[in-house]
Amino acid sequence: MDVQTPALTLGHQFADELPEMAVPWQAEAAPEPRVLVLDTDLAAELGLDPAQLTAGLLTGTELPAGAKPVAQAYAGHQFGGYSPRLGDGRALLLGEIDGRDLHLKGSGRTPFARGGDGLAGIGPMLREYIVSRAMHALGIPTTRSLAVVGTGRTVRREQPQPGAVLARVAASHLRVGSFQFARATDDTELLRRLADHAIARHYPELAGDYLGFYDAVVAAQASLVARWMLVGFVHGVMNTDNMTISGETIDYGPCAFMEAVDPATVFSSIDTGGRYAYGNQPGIAQWNLARLAEALLPLFHDEQEQAVPLAVASLERFAPAFTTAWTRGMRDKLGLAEDPSAELTTDLADLLRAGRVDYTTFFRTLSEAARGRADLTRALFDDPAVFDSWLPRWQALSPDAEPMDRVNPVYIPRNHLVEEALAAAVAGDLDPLHRLDQAVSDPFNERRGLARYAEPAPGDFGPYQTFCGT
Ligand code: AMP
Ligand code: MG
Repeated sequence: MDVQTPALTLGHQFADELPEMAVPWQAEAAPEPRVLVLDTDLAAELGLDPAQLTAGLLTGTELPAGAKPVAQAYAGHQFGGYSPRLGDGRALLLGEIDGRDLHLKGSGRTPFARGGDGLAGIGPMLREYIVSRAMHALGIPTTRSLAVVGTGRTVRREQPQPGAVLARVAASHLRVGSFQFARATDDTELLRRLADHAIARHYPELAGDYLGFYDAVVAAQASLVARWMLVGFVHGVMNTDNMTISGETIDYGPCAFMEAVDPATVFSSIDTGGRYAYGNQPGIAQWNLARLAEALLPLFHDEQEQAVPLAVASLERFAPAFTTAWTRGMRDKLGLAEDPSAELTTDLADLLRAGRVDYTTFFRTLSEAARGRADLTRALFDDPAVFDSWLPRWQALSPDAEPMDRVNPVYIPRNHLVEEALAAAVAGDLDPLHRLDQAVSDPFNERRGLARYAEPAPGDFGPYQTFCGT
């Protein structure tokens, strides 16, 4: 008996409601498509049948009837400099499934491509796949990677490498840069339509309340960046086009996790000034949100003089919202019943920094200290004296070990492991990636045989640098 695969429907709400920001476009054909990795959990969550997830769908070349794929327009501040027209140079919005975007990256040149080839290599696409899987498993809002499909094409980069297309799922791809684009047209009706679309998708209870919408984005980003800071995540390229309105992490180009604690940690080869260093992330998020406020001003009030103080008052809520989220997260990481004092956490930050201790290992072993075995944590310090003076202050607060193990991961996608997995994948072996995925997709659950996935990079790994891979 033939079992019919249910028909997949791809919505086109964005394309219909915002045609000024949507260029109808087709994906480039992949000569020899081969599905390399597929997130079956995500497929199931979307109600997708594995039989529907053909290489043709996942490369955008065979879409269900009625689909209207588009390249989205957006502007953005990149490293502080404004570009009025960025847009999906090598990406496409295929459509919406249950209100979520199905989007491709590496699907060929679009009218936004400028000098780029429109393509992507499997290294950067698999990096996005594995790191976004890890972020999701860590409970951090993120765009998700549905699949990476090898195209059978060679992509020219510093090193030629196999080409790939990433299929990504997101609450939406609306960015701060989307609003900057709409604002720059001087068409307030378009700006309002974009805001209405964003509100309907992400904050439906705020229909018509543009200042409330802005507040909600400020709150979502304050919470998101606090979550990044709590796991040692360095995004690496917090341009305004890489900051979502939904509060999901987007764009896993040069991101990496910090090991030795240092607020000045930078991995991206192009971030020579350290603009997007670990410790700068909250301040940069706030800067980006100021750019969003500028874009939204005409919706706050007809008179600019009246709109500005409203925006400023909203933006001023970022810092306390960030501090609250971060302190609450630290409370959980430290296993405490109440928020820790700023003194306790500041002194902790100072001692971790002075000791250049591995951030993830510190917190994970600290639950053993709560169980009465402080020696594991103590051994992380070359000079344990500073830790010895901090320890009793924390112990006096009666930390509870068990919940600590539910928020302090054992496994994160460590830089040397990601590099190892990607190098093998480029050479045709996906096993190391699958093993890494096993560890990081269940990050709080320590398992036998995975000890090497919990360890910091060996000394000879050296200073780590990441590349956008574009
Ligand atoms: P990203 O660094 O991925 O956020 O990209 C920044 C901008 O450059 C976006 O407008 C991208 O669409 C565009 N871009 C990046 N790589 C390529 C490429 N290989 N071909 C065309 N456009 C690209
Ligand atoms: Mg981007």
